[in-house]
Amino acid sequence: MNGTSVAASAASPGTLLDVNGIEVIYNHVILVLKGVSLRVQEGDIVALLGANGAGKTTTLRAISSLLRGQRGEVTKGSIEYRGERTESFTPADLVQRGVIQVMEGRHCFAHLTIEENLLTGAYTRILSRAQLEAALDRVYQYFPRLKQRRKSQAGYTSGGEQQMAAIGRALMADPRMILLDEPSMGLAPQIVDEIFQIVRDLNQREGVSFLLAEQNTNVALRYADYGYILESGRVMMDGVAADLAQNADVKEFYLGVSGAGRTSFRETKFYRRRKRWLA
Ligand code: ATP
Repeated sequence: MNGTSVAASAASPGTLLDVNGIEVIYNHVILVLKGVSLRVQEGDIVALLGANGAGKTTTLRAISSLLRGQRGEVTKGSIEYRGERTESFTPADLVQRGVIQVMEGRHCFAHLTIEENLLTGAYTRILSRAQLEAALDRVYQYFPRLKQRRKSQAGYTSGGEQQMAAIGRALMADPRMILLDEPSMGLAPQIVDEIFQIVRDLNQREGVSFLLAEQNTNVALRYADYGYILESGRVMMDGVAADLAQNADVKEFYLGVSGAGRTSFRETKFYRRRKRWLA
């Protein structure tokens, strides 16, 4: 294991988010997270990595209090955002505190224009016309493509543009931390890089922290400061992103595999054998 294990060290003053040993159960019976701990330091980009079904989305939903709508609940452990326990918070309470989730699959309003989609992101803020214009300008500065497409119906824009609109909408809410679920999903590598580059810009220039769930380990580790690898609802490994990218097991299991993942039976069998060894 690289880096410092979260379980072993206490939260430092710069800790924005502290997830401590959470267990999540859906429908009262389906145990999905089995004691997940992770931390996001103020100003960091943290990647939550793992294969399909590892529990990444569930972790993000737990943090943004969106589990209830999915018949899920946190049954053990705690989540603290800036030192405050969040279990009694509604999703709106978290948005008010600057925690904004960009869901997997983008979820744009297909019949609204790109600009109208962006404006929905500011509905929790009371802004004058001039402030709204300034907020839109800020989004367009990061996403010039959205400016070009601002009058287009979102449903007719490309997947990459919709992903940009979803992140832009989060930016309209004046976030301190964005929870970003699978931003690379279904997008061409060039667009994925463009989006991650913008994430890095937002992080560096606006100071927004990110927790991003990704199956695309390769690209996520290139842009993140720190990473956690989830497998079957547990953190298997965590560390500084550059160290994880060099780790032999990470290289073997998560890097260098095609975007489609492990496809052949032989590869799966090999993976299972190695997984047992890792555990
Ligand atoms: P993906 O990349 O497919 O989104 P993930 O790592 O984000 O994967 P989750 O979506 O958190 O994983 O799913 C983890 C497990 O929880 C899966 O086995 C999934 O079937 C199960 N699960 C997710 N949502 C629910 C739900 N609402 N009710 C019951 N089980 C669920």
